[in-house]
Amino acid sequence: MSNYENTDNVLPHQHGEDEEKIIKDMPSDEMARSVSGILKLLGDPSRLKIFWLLCHCEECVINIAALTEMSSPAVSHHLRLLKSSGLIVSRREGKEMYYKAADTEMTKSLHVTIESVADITCPG
Ligand SMILES: [Zn+2]
Repeated sequence: MSNYENTDNVLPHQHGEDEEKIIKDMPSDEMARSVSGILKLLGDPSRLKIFWLLCHCEECVINIAALTEMSSPAVSHHLRLLKSSGLIVSRREGKEMYYKAADTEMTKSLHVTIESVADITCPG
């Protein structure tokens, strides 16, 4: 529960700002934990690279490992975490598993955000 709930919206200090509007949309603790968890997951440079890569292509572990210059077990570990958070999805074809970014509004905005912060142009 937010610290600002169940009060009469009077802040300790009055600076003439209209905080009431902001407070109304203040993320709940649960929402903040969820967003923080996603950002923390992408706070690992290796996972960020893998996620960004999978925003542009669908690949198997071996190729992701080659493209990111990481070991397959390390890539598998990161893929498990990314998948359990819903950022990526997998598809089995024969013996091979293929991974790509989930098609959600969240992954689209994270994709755009990464490229914006990194100041790179989306390769498409
Ligand atoms: Zn892109």
